[in-house]
This record gives sequence, structure tokens and C-alpha cells, in this order.
Amino acid sequence: PPLYQQRYQFVKSYVDTYKPKKVADLGCSECALLHTLRFWDCIEVLVGLDIDEDVLRRKMHTLTPLAAHYLEPSKTSLTVNLYQGSVTQKDPALLGFDLITCIELIEHLKADDLADFREVLFGFMAPFTVIISTPNAEFNILLPKCTGFRHPDHKFEWNRREFQSWATEVAECFNYRVEFTGVGEPLQDSKNVGFCSQIAVFTRNYTESEESLKRKMEYKSVYKTVLHAVY
Ligand code: SAM
Repeated sequence: PPLYQQRYQFVKSYVDTYKPKKVADLGCSECALLHTLRFWDCIEVLVGLDIDEDVLRRKMHTLTPLAAHYLEPSKTSLTVNLYQGSVTQKDPALLGFDLITCIELIEHLKADDLADFREVLFGFMAPFTVIISTPNAEFNILLPKCTGFRHPDHKFEWNRREFQSWATEVAECFNYRVEFTGVGEPLQDSKNVGFCSQIAVFTRNYTESEESLKRKMEYKSVYKTVLHAVY
């Protein structure tokens, strides 16, 4: 399967195994991952956030319930919310999540935005699990037409050492543990370049106090709601 599907498959396997109830996808673009997750039994709340409202609107109709969904209601209800906003902004709409995914997002962030994002995601949103994927620069020698970065909007592409040192420091700083894996394996005979997309899975080491959560809930909303659907 194409690489993007392998990344979604990775998330779907995680969801199958750990059964998160509240799931958010940051930098969700045309909502393709959310679309594949919308009828997963365990999921009760599904949220997408992107800075680009046009890209959100392009396919968001695929996330709204059809008449048939009301005629044959599913056992558990599902709420889907799409927001326009930046991952550098704190908004209570993203508190209390079991899983937050950031698939091919961080390489689009400038250095100061990446620093804010780290604090917003791990310090403020502080979900139980975070899955981050990003290109592995070492793999680029195997991509035929790739000179420079894989996409003109990428602000950086990290090798394994760079990604792992960033992620390890984040984990230490915010009291998470982190494991590394990836998708898109090189052919057998090629050099040891690692996966095409590298992935870090972070798990929170602590339970957040009611008090801390309550304090964060009082933050002012800043995201713009683009879709609110209840199944
Ligand atoms: N996650 C999608 C997927 O796997 O199909 C694609 C991600 S696309 C390569 C990167 C997305 O991040 C774009 O839709 C872009 O608008 C969004 N983005 C970039 N900077 C952002 C920011 N500061 N806050 C939220 N989204 C952002």
C-alpha cells in the first residue's frame, strides 16, 4: 500500500489495541485519517485541527452523518468536531484526549512554532498518548526524484538521530516515555537507512490532577469550529 496508508494503518492498529475513546488529529488536512476512524466502536469523540480552513472544508462532508445513520443508530454515539486553528495555540477543546496524532505535521513548522507546539501538545493538551510521524531524511537517497526536501513546504527533514534526540528531550521534559518505529521499509539489499517515515509513540507517565485540568479548562477558546456533527 502507499506510504500514507501505511501511516494510517499504524494509527488504526494502535486504536485496535488500546481502544482510545477521545482521539484528535492535528494537521488533519483533508480529514482522511479521521474518515477511516469514524466508525471505530471504541471512539466517542473525534477531533481534527488544521490551520487551513479551505483544506478542512474540501472533504468535510464525508464526516457528516447520512440519514441512514439516524435510521440505524450505532450503539455508542460519536461526536466529530473540526477546528480551524494552529497547533501553537492553547484551546480547552483539546483537553482530556486519550490519543493525539500528528502525521507529517512537524516538518511544516518553523523553529519557533515547533517550540510552541511542543509546549502546547505535551504541556497543555497532555493526552495519554501522542503519535508523531515525520520523514526520515536518511531514506531520501532511495527516492528517485528527491533532491533537497521531499516537499517544498518542509522547513526541515530530520535523520533518525535528530528526531530521536528531539523526541527524547521532549519526553524527559514533559514526563512521557517514548518509543521509536516507522513505516515504509527499504528493500533488503539497500543500506541501513531506516524507515521512510519515522514514528515516535509517547505515553504519559503521570495522571493529571482534576485541579490542573480545571485550571486549563478556563482558558479562552481560540479555535474556530468548522464542523460539529453528532452521530
Ligand atoms: N496529516 C495529514 C495526512 O497524513 O494526510 C497531512 C498533513 S499535511 C502534509 C500538513 C498539514 O499541516 C497541512 O494540512 C497544513 O495546513 C497543516 N498545518 C501546518 N501548520 C499548521 C499549524 N501551525 N497548525 C495546524 N495545522 C498546521
